[in-house]
Amino acid sequence: MALKIAQVTELINNIANVIQNNKEFLTELDSAIGDGDHGINMSKGFKAVKEKLTTAKINTVGDILKTTGMALVSNVGGASGPLYGTAFMKASSLVNKEEVNINDFIDMFQAAIDGVKMRGKANRGDKTMLDALEPALDVLREAKANGLDDITALENMKNEALKGVEYTKGIIAKKGRASYLGERSIGHQDPGATSSYLILNEIYNYVLNNNK
Ligand code: ADP
Ligand code: MG
Repeated sequence: MALKIAQVTELINNIANVIQNNKEFLTELDSAIGDGDHGINMSKGFKAVKEKLTTAKINTVGDILKTTGMALVSNVGGASGPLYGTAFMKASSLVNKEEVNINDFIDMFQAAIDGVKMRGKANRGDKTMLDALEPALDVLREAKANGLDDITALENMKNEALKGVEYTKGIIAKKGRASYLGERSIGHQDPGATSSYLILNEIYNYVLNNNK
C-alpha cells in the first residue's frame, strides 16, 4: 500500500460519500440512545470537508488530513465533530510527505486514537467510537507484525471494528449523551462506533480497489 496525495484526497471524498449514504442510519442509531443527530452532524461535517478540499492548498498528505480535521471541528456542533476533527488533525502532523504506506497509517491511526482519548477522556468499554477504533488498530498492528499482506491486515482491521460495534450493544454507555440513559443504553449499538467502522471499512475498500 502506498497512497499518494491524489489518492488520499479521493479516499477522503469516498468516506464523505459513505457518511452521506448512511446519514439516516446513523441518525436512527443516535435517536435510540442520544439526540438523533449523529448522521446529520457527520454528513454536515464531511460535506464541509469535501468543499474545503477543492480549494485548500495541498502539498502533503498531512495537509489533506489537517484540512479534513479543521473542517470537522469547525462545522460540527455535536461531540463527534471535535473528536473526529482532533483525530484527523493529530494524524496529519505525522505525514509531512507526499505518500503514505501501511506503517505510516498505523502511526497515524495511533495518533488519532490518542487525540480522541485526550479530547474526550473516554476509554475502551465506555460505549464510544473507541470500542471500534482501538481493537481495530490492535489487530492491524498484530497482522503486520505477523507478516500478513496489507490487504489482509486491513481486512482484519475492519472486521475487528465491526466486532467492536457489536460489542457496544451489550455494554452501558459511560461517556457522551448515551450515558444519561445508564442501563437503558444496553441493547443498542453506539452510533460513533458505527461511523468509525464505516470509515475504516472504506479505507479497506479503497486500498483493495486501488492497490499498487
Ligand atoms: P452528540 O453526542 O453531541 O449529539 P454525536 O451524536 O454526533 O454528538 O456523536 C455521538 C457519538 O460520539 C457517540 O455515539 C460516541 O461514539 C461518541 N462520543 C461521545 N462522547 C465521546 C467521548 N467522550 N469520547 C469518545 N467518543 C465519544
Ligand atoms: Mg447526537
